[in-house]
Amino acid sequence: MSTPYDWLDRALASIHKANWYRSTQTVSSKAATTAIVDGREMLMFASNNYLGLAGDRRLIDAAIAATEIYGTGATGSRLVSGHLALHGQLETAIADLKNTEAALVFSSGYLANLGTIAAIAGARDLILGDEYNHSCLKKGSLLSGATAIDYRHLDLTDLTAKLQENRAKYRRCLIITDSVFSMDGDLASLREIMDLAQTHDCMVLVDEAHGTGVFGDRGGGLTQALGIQQDLIQVGTLSKALGSLGGYVAGSAKLIDYLRNRAATWIYTTALSPADTGAAIAAIEIIRTEPQLRDRLWQNVEFFKQGLQNLGIQAIADDSPILAIEVGDIPQTLQVAANLRKNGIFAPAIRPPTVPTPRIRITLMASHTQAQIQFLLQCLQAV
Ligand code: PMP
Repeated sequence: MSTPYDWLDRALASIHKANWYRSTQTVSSKAATTAIVDGREMLMFASNNYLGLAGDRRLIDAAIAATEIYGTGATGSRLVSGHLALHGQLETAIADLKNTEAALVFSSGYLANLGTIAAIAGARDLILGDEYNHSCLKKGSLLSGATAIDYRHLDLTDLTAKLQENRAKYRRCLIITDSVFSMDGDLASLREIMDLAQTHDCMVLVDEAHGTGVFGDRGGGLTQALGIQQDLIQVGTLSKALGSLGGYVAGSAKLIDYLRNRAATWIYTTALSPADTGAAIAAIEIIRTEPQLRDRLWQNVEFFKQGLQNLGIQAIADDSPILAIEVGDIPQTLQVAANLRKNGIFAPAIRPPTVPTPRIRITLMASHTQAQIQFLLQCLQAV
């Protein structure tokens, strides 16, 4: 007998046929560089825990202390009953880190982008986005109802042409880009984008999910490293270098005031949990005051880059702790990832539809030792 859900079989079959099928594997990692993956201890080269803070005792203690004081759940949305003093403290710390007037924390980076983009652009507006932008920037653009046009990845000539052709037809224009592209590890030309935005009277939203804590002398992100933290909207996550969970927007006091009234993914959802909030506050303090963690991360990136060069292996980009290596088609890439796993290395294959071409994505952390990176290099050579 047929049911209204039979289409699911067909949909799953077509996902399998395209080699796009994905499933979870159980990973448990409090240690900064190793993890138990499906029951087996492995070296972790797939985590966004860039500074190794997710297992840091000080974050754990801060999460416990916040839970002891405020309980496990915020129990309500920020505008009703969920606004804790702790949320205010975290927002002040983020605004300080980002050198902005104000900040607003969301339940995740994904929700921060969805809610912000949909609140600041509408049907009469234009959004121009890098074609490789993260899913939440693209979905936020769709949700806003604006006309969303992609420009070619990192291609400022294409962005300029699309601005010249389209800008005048729309009320407001928003340019959106990742600062560090999550699957390629390359960097947006933010200064040039800011100049173009000024010429064409556009707002700019930059997703610093992979830049915060990693770039900038205080860890404020690529925007801080480039000295361009004003006149743009900085969005990011608390879940990568900050080792917690949640997202944020940082910008002018006016913008944040407006988002408190218009960002549906902030207004209509339960406030961030006390534990996540407390851990994020502790992380920001460490990120601001311990630049040696960042130094160690970049030493590891340099060591790995040098090793790849010696092996004649070319990463898609080598400007960040994300180094992606293309090794062939989807079955070949899956095979390389499986062979790395046999050697005790967790560095999974990332493939379409997440990315246009399959690759092994390797992320480095401050906590990796050079011996661990050397072992990864040996295994890459072998497989
Ligand atoms: N932006 C980018 C560039 C990301 O890589 C991610 C996480 N994969 C997000 C946003 C979403 O952040 P979160 O995990 O906090 O939802």
